[in-house]
Amino acid sequence: MKVGILAFHGDFSEHKAVLGSLGITSIEVRTVDDLAGVQKLIIPGGESTVIAKFLRETKLDRAIIKRVRRKTLSIFGTCAGAIILARKITGRNAPKSLGLIDITVDRNAYGSQLQSFEASIDVKDLAKSVDVAFIRAPIITRAGRRTNVLATHKGHPVVARQKNILIATCHPEVRGETRLHEYFLKM
Ligand code: GLN
Repeated sequence: MKVGILAFHGDFSEHKAVLGSLGITSIEVRTVDDLAGVQKLIIPGGESTVIAKFLRETKLDRAIIKRVRRKTLSIFGTCAGAIILARKITGRNAPKSLGLIDITVDRNAYGSQLQSFEASIDVKDLAKSVDVAFIRAPIITRAGRRTNVLATHKGHPVVARQKNILIATCHPEVRGETRLHEYFLKM
């Protein structure tokens, strides 16, 4: 199984370290050629506006959409990665998303960097007390019927899956947490 991490920008090294701790070697994806043969792709946190710009410029946006529709690619997006995967983004300067999971996200909905926080969340059918960090996170304001909400925090969905797309509005990878990555690798 070939695992790739979108590595234009953001916390891709932290994801690489989590995969490494699970004994998984990953490759950094920056071009359409890099994506060839990758079956599992992680889109890290960072700035969704910046990630969207690079996806468009490299044409990786269309390549990723095509591969997901052909069911030859699974994706795990954390925070900005979740924003990029959403059907709809609200909030200021919302970038164009890939529209691969039927959720609406409101960018920076918790407030500024100062409103970032850590939490432990229970993930349905997976684990209790999964340690995560919410860093200028979005809030999911709508989840469609085909979206399976796997965890909530204070009433908001924070981990969700639709077929081969998994998203978390928070970061497990900055807390040394591996269980969501293990779940993704088995998807
Ligand atoms: N606030 C960022 C955005 O909207 C996401 C932050 C993150 O990935 N931790 O793109």
